[in-house]
Amino acid sequence: MPLLRSWVESANAPDHPFPLNNLPCGVFSLDGEEPRCGVAIGDFVLDVAGLEEAGLVALPGGPFLDVPFWNDLMEAGPVVWAAFRDRLTALLSDGAAERAAVEPFLVPLAGATLHMPFLVSEYTDFYAGRHHATNVGTMFRGAENALPPNWLHIPIGYNGRASSVVVSGTPVRRPWGQIKGPDDAAPRFAPSARFDIELEMGAVVGQPSTHGQPVTVEEADAMIFGYVLLNDWSARDIQAWEYQPLGPFQAKATATTISPWIVMKAALEPFRTSTPAREKPLLPYLHEPRPMLYDIALEVALTPEGGTETVIARTNYAEMYYSAAQQLAHHTTSGCAMNVGDLLGSGTISGPTKESRGSLLELSWGGKEPFPVAGGTRSFIQDNDTLTLRGQCKGDGYTIGFGECTGKVIPALADPYAR
Ligand code: CA
Repeated sequence: MPLLRSWVESANAPDHPFPLNNLPCGVFSLDGEEPRCGVAIGDFVLDVAGLEEAGLVALPGGPFLDVPFWNDLMEAGPVVWAAFRDRLTALLSDGAAERAAVEPFLVPLAGATLHMPFLVSEYTDFYAGRHHATNVGTMFRGAENALPPNWLHIPIGYNGRASSVVVSGTPVRRPWGQIKGPDDAAPRFAPSARFDIELEMGAVVGQPSTHGQPVTVEEADAMIFGYVLLNDWSARDIQAWEYQPLGPFQAKATATTISPWIVMKAALEPFRTSTPAREKPLLPYLHEPRPMLYDIALEVALTPEGGTETVIARTNYAEMYYSAAQQLAHHTTSGCAMNVGDLLGSGTISGPTKESRGSLLELSWGGKEPFPVAGGTRSFIQDNDTLTLRGQCKGDGYTIGFGECTGKVIPALADPYAR
């Protein structure tokens, strides 16, 4: 599909992240006003809550946009999602008759504050990047035990905390936790000294499943509303001590940052690609009926306080071994019900090369090989460093962007129990 031309001129630039082909869903506010649903188009946010109120967008079963989150529209289902996109495409297309009526609902993006785009019902994080799992396993357990015996058969995951998911721009405070190094006689309670990022994609579940009824991979794909960038902040020193036998707990509960725009699945259709070749055949319930991954170029940048940015990793979502649809299908095999607004983290997306590693743990190989950034080196995140994730799909004369997923790490509390 080529660029869809819009009368919003800035949206037509080939490298602009928000062309008419994208129409990502966010929540914005202007000074002193209540947050409301908006869609990014070029250098603007289109106030779709206002459009619906004015009758310019009328969806069957609506209104859905009179709340400051997208869950109601998600719940309405794929037919309404498509009708919504069709209507916005008609209103914003070059030469649209309604231009004069729509124009007052455009707000400059630069003056808008962005909020969480949806209410996170529950949050599950997976571990589906093979290069990441191999790298971390090698560091934690040795090369011969790098990939656990179940890894090539099951999309490994754990249930995280919805309460820890924050929108891009939210500062992240370095956590305290229980830490015990391999040579320490006893654990101690201290600020994490090995605080890290994980470059991931998040899948946003837009349709529920029934308790007791597993879904197929095809059904799971149809349940997904869209995707966000996701940074699963991780305290490696806390993780290394706590993770056996039940997996990560406090190491991953400080914060998970998501990008402010949900890119709907429809915008990503031209970029579908298959998961990599299987080393071991999957059980039938995990077979992919068609390509379920996406070609999304990803990068991570680190900016020290007052310093210049260094891009420290470049990789692609297509490196995942399991797609979000496979993960979602697997999630329901127990009979576990999925809800509108559930968030699934893909797992860290590392590529095969050193430059394509999606965490500092891997980039510095457990701190043994500090890597260069502007003005110094890093093994793990230092206080006041800002970490930024970016992602884009390159189409025929256009780009699909997600908006930045960024967060600054602020110093740990001096005494977390001081009252
Ligand atoms: Ca993770």
